[in-house]
Amino acid sequence: MAKKFSLILFLLVFVVIGLKAQDTYQRNSSADIQSYIFNLSLNDSTNQIEGEAEITVDFNAAPKAFALDLIGKSNAFGMKVTHVFEDDNEVNYTFENNKIKITPPSDSTQTRTYKVAYHGIPERGLVIDTTKFGKRSFFGDNWPNLARHWLPSVDHPYDKASIEFRITAPEHYDVVATGEKIEESYLDDGHKLTIYKEPAPVAMKVVTIGVAQFASRLIEEVYDIPVTAWVYPENRLDGFSDYSVASEVLKYFIDNIGPYSYAKLANMQAKTQWGGLENAGTISYFENSVTGKNEVEGLIAHEIAHQWFGNSATENDWNHVWLSEGFATYFAILYQESVYGDEKRKEELALDRKQIFEYYGKNPSPIIDLSITDPLKVLSVNTYQKAGWVLNMLRHKLGDGIFWEGIRTYYKRFQNANAMTADFRKVMEEVSGTDLKAFFEQWLYTKGYPEIKWDWNYHNGKIGLNIEQLQDHHIFQFPLEIGIVSKGKLDITTLQIDEKSKTFEIPITDKPDAIVLDPESWLLFEEKK
Ligand SMILES: [Zn+2]
Repeated sequence: MAKKFSLILFLLVFVVIGLKAQDTYQRNSSADIQSYIFNLSLNDSTNQIEGEAEITVDFNAAPKAFALDLIGKSNAFGMKVTHVFEDDNEVNYTFENNKIKITPPSDSTQTRTYKVAYHGIPERGLVIDTTKFGKRSFFGDNWPNLARHWLPSVDHPYDKASIEFRITAPEHYDVVATGEKIEESYLDDGHKLTIYKEPAPVAMKVVTIGVAQFASRLIEEVYDIPVTAWVYPENRLDGFSDYSVASEVLKYFIDNIGPYSYAKLANMQAKTQWGGLENAGTISYFENSVTGKNEVEGLIAHEIAHQWFGNSATENDWNHVWLSEGFATYFAILYQESVYGDEKRKEELALDRKQIFEYYGKNPSPIIDLSITDPLKVLSVNTYQKAGWVLNMLRHKLGDGIFWEGIRTYYKRFQNANAMTADFRKVMEEVSGTDLKAFFEQWLYTKGYPEIKWDWNYHNGKIGLNIEQLQDHHIFQFPLEIGIVSKGKLDITTLQIDEKSKTFEIPITDKPDAIVLDPESWLLFEEKK
C-alpha cells in the first residue's frame, strides 16, 4: 500500500519492541485453507453484520485441530459465533482470545468444509461510515491483519485461498468485491444479492468489498482483463479520468513481468486508512485521490505493481515485507521511467534517498529487521524507499537484461504462492550466475549505507581521488561510478570500493572541469563533507 501522504511527506513513529523474535503468528500445522465463501448481510438501520463463512480445508495428514482468527465480542464491537458446522453437523470448537479452534471428527477425510455462523459490529477491517459526500458506505480495509474483525479466516499471508463474497445489502447499493461478478439478483424484500468469485488464491490482507453508491465504467480490456473505475457519483468524470491510466500501467507490467493473476482490475475510490491499498484485483484509493488532474499516476503504478509483488508472489513472513513494498516502490519507478525517461527514475530516487537519510538518522535499523513482531510496524522508509533503492542497485549490478530475466523467473516460480528473501536471491543467482550473498547481506540485513567523504586533485596527467567511508559499523563493498566532466562532456569510469579508505589514480591528459560521484544514480550513499 501507499501511505496517505507518501507523495509529499510523512512522519512515522517507529517503535522497536522486543529482541530477536520475528513474525510470531501461530500457523496451523496440518490445515491448509483452500477456499472461503463469505455470506454477508448488511443493512441500513444498524452496523451489525450477519455472516456465514464456508471454509474448505485440506489437511496434510490426519485432521488435527486448527484455528481461525476472529475478533470476539467485547463491549459494542466484535463478533459472536453461533454455530460451527462440518457439513451439516455441529463440530467441537472453542472461541476464546479471538481464535476459533475447531477439532475435526476423527473420521474426517482430508478435504473438509466448515461453516461458521456469526454476527456483530466490526470495530475495524470493514469500515462502515459515510463517504465525504455524506453517503453511507461499507469498505473492506484489511491490511495487515484486520480481516479478523469481520471475516473468520487465517489472517496471515502465509495461507492464501480462493475467495467468494455473497453480499446481501439494501438494493440501492452498488457492490464491488475481490473477484469476478458472477451474480446480481434483486430479492423480493428490497435487498440485492451480489456475488463475486476470485479463483486465484488471495491473502486476507488484500481481500475487500466496496458497498456504496458508485459510478462505474469499463476503462479498457487489457489482454481480456477488464480494467474498471468505481468512483463516487459526485466524482464521476474526474474519477474516470484520474483512474484511466490504470490500463497503461497494467499493460506495462504484464508485458514486462508476466501474466496478471486475478479476474479483473477494479480501481475503487474508497474509505481507507491508506493512500492506496493494493487489494487483489480491486484496489482502494483514498477518497481525495480524485482531483481530475491526473495526479495519482505514481500511486496507481505502486498499487498495480503490488498485484505481482505482495499479492501474487507474497512474502511468507511479515519481516520480509520488502518483497512487497520495496518491489512496488521500485516497479512504480520503472513504469514511470518507461513513460517519462531515465530522468524520472533519477528524480524519484533522489526524493527517496532524502527520506532514507532522515529515517536512518532516527532509526538505524536494517531493511529485514527481525526485532519487529507487530506487522503494522514493518512498514517504514526501509521497507519501501530503501528496499526500492536496493532493487535499483541490483539492476545495475546485473544489467537490465539479466535483472528483468531474474524478475520474470522469480514471478513465474512464485506466482500465486509465497516467498522469502532467500528464494528471491536464489532465483537471481541462478539467472545471473553471480554469487549475491554479500550483496544481500550488506543491503538487506545490515543497517545504513556508505557515508562517503572524498576529494580529488590533478597532478602530472593523473586524477588523484581519495575515497573514505565514514560509518563505523560496516565497510560496504560496491562499485562506484566516477563522472569526469571535461569540456562539457561526461565520461564515466567505475571504481571498486572495498576498503575503509583508499586513494585511486586515474590517468587523464588534461585537468577535468569537475568530478561527480555516481552521476547516473546507481548507488545509495551519502556524501559527507
Ligand atoms: Zn505498497
